[in-house]
Amino acid sequence: MNIEKSENVKNKSWNYQPDLPILNSPLFDWTPRPSSALKWVLNRWIKVTSSTLFLIVAILVYNIGQPTPETFLVLAPGWIFQIWVRNLLLLGIFAGGLHLWFITFSMQGKRLKFDARSMMKKNGTFTFRDQVHDNMFWSLTSGVTAWTLFEVLYVWGAANGAIPVMAFKGSEIWFFAWLVMLPIMGAMHFYWVHRLLHWPPLYRRFHSLHHRSINVGPWSGLSMHPVESMLYMSSVLVFFLIPAHPVIVLLHLYIRAIGPCFTHAGFENAMVGEQKLVDAGDFHHQLHHRYFECNYGTAEMPWDRWFGSFHDGSEAATKRIRARKKLIFARK
Ligand SMILES: [Zn+2]
Ligand SMILES: [Zn+2]
Repeated sequence: MNIEKSENVKNKSWNYQPDLPILNSPLFDWTPRPSSALKWVLNRWIKVTSSTLFLIVAILVYNIGQPTPETFLVLAPGWIFQIWVRNLLLLGIFAGGLHLWFITFSMQGKRLKFDARSMMKKNGTFTFRDQVHDNMFWSLTSGVTAWTLFEVLYVWGAANGAIPVMAFKGSEIWFFAWLVMLPIMGAMHFYWVHRLLHWPPLYRRFHSLHHRSINVGPWSGLSMHPVESMLYMSSVLVFFLIPAHPVIVLLHLYIRAIGPCFTHAGFENAMVGEQKLVDAGDFHHQLHHRYFECNYGTAEMPWDRWFGSFHDGSEAATKRIRARKKLIFARK
């Protein structure tokens, strides 16, 4: 592949930028780089990352946080309510925790903060004229409802035998294969659903709500119009056809639903003293929130590189994307 080189010049309009240019997963390089690819995959699962945290939560919820499987045989308000409350709490703990850490108590000041600006207040663009309240409202209503709906359908279908489920014993290799596949499958679904949502009629009606946040914080991630929330969470439907262990399904739901509060945190890492504790903000997606018509996907798959919408963080890329945006708007 002709890897696009761009000048490694940092843009002064950011408070902090990671090393540039932003790289895509080496898994998709034309010239295979097996050791880099292996390192990329392993880094997600052997370090303290949002993914490993979600895997722990998924294992805990599956083993000690669920009603008995027979309960799911019949759709009943009791257990549906239980799942909904659990999801509200999980999002509250993660998004709320990150918000308190980064913003309320400013535990690391502006260190590793991409955009120097604060969350917006007294701004009519937002519900309640306040960015944080707006983002919390849409995450906790639209986001958690879509997430719960898919989760309820899955456990109900699985309990009734309509959805194939894989046991861990005897299928260990598949369990680990799913850990490798999840980010790739998620990246593919996210790119195409997101690309569709940037089609002007859909953008205006549905996706513009998520783009109210030009600068982002932990609560911005799942802040979506209900139609976008349903489309976004629909990636879980793959498990309605292809068998996986329920922990993998829960993990996928958490990567989808809770993951955005990390990737939208606005800070590259959460730090304790001088120590980086856990990965957080995704500069690739932060660029999308600032420049709109670029980086529709994630760094996990080079869809944007293949379709010419990749912003690698450099000034040269900003100029190119601005010209592209002008062209897109001139056509409308
Ligand atoms: Zn978008
Ligand atoms: Zn976003």
